Amino acid sequence: MELILLGPPGAGKGTQSKLLETRYGVAQISTGDMLRAEVKAGTPIGLEAKSVMDAGKLVSDDILVRMIQERIHRPDCAKGFILDGFPRTVPQAEALDRMLHNTAVDLDAVIELKVDEAVLVERISGRFTCATCGAGYHDKFKQPKKPGVCDVCGGTEFTRRPDDKAETVHARLEAYNAQTAPILPYYRAQGRLHVVDGMAEMDEVEAQIEAVLRKIGVPAAGA
Ligand code: ADP
Ligand code: ADP
Ligand code: ZN
Repeated sequence: MELILLGPPGAGKGTQSKLLETRYGVAQISTGDMLRAEVKAGTPIGLEAKSVMDAGKLVSDDILVRMIQERIHRPDCAKGFILDGFPRTVPQAEALDRMLHNTAVDLDAVIELKVDEAVLVERISGRFTCATCGAGYHDKFKQPKKPGVCDVCGGTEFTRRPDDKAETVHARLEAYNAQTAPILPYYRAQGRLHVVDGMAEMDEVEAQIEAVLRKIGVPAAGA
């Protein structure tokens, strides 16, 4: 299964792609996570990306296309992948089409998670992550079952992203509207775009995505 989850920051792409990864046995590819790992490791890409990410702008297409090209050929992508955060510009979408064409892999679907801007701000400002395993949480919508302890790994340290602060969120939403939203008509014209109501509760959004996948003939793993 080759899937793209599209949507503005805070729409629920990370949350849903982690659920799908488990359910369908395909790799979740988050370009935001990959870039944050480069920043943490202090690589040349990380050094270049850091200030751009902190400002809420998009890192260059060139870097992202090279990262994805390498990533989708790793062994864990043998059964497919879910792209979370890529493509984010029309040139990235075009580059992805060329890559997939060359490897004779076809995209199954592009799923847009639609969420109102006011809700996005609330979601982003309450977001935090387990520092050990990366599981995602929210101050209001998804607290760990036992306060201060990760449900998945039992870790007790959590982190918040520096770009999740209010000043930067505005710039990120602008970048989405100006540079990423134009991808939607691109995929609509290909007949691949499916829209899901991302305002619903997490398990309801998951059910809607699975309904789309069933409709286009992707069998649910483990079902
Ligand atoms: P969000 O959770 O807001 O959707 P991500 O974790 O996907 O954010 O991305 C964080 C930041 O990493 C972005 O604001 C951008 O600076 C950079 N980034 C991630 N993916 C891409 C991409 N495909 N193209 C350009 N920049 C990217
Ligand atoms: P994205 O990857 O698109 O930036 P996330 O999956 O990180 O978005 O979700 C942003 C925040 O909103 C997280 O704290 C997450 O726990 C929470 N969240 C995700 N989906 C929902 C939902 N359907 N309802 C309420 N909160 C949600
Ligand atoms: Zn954890």
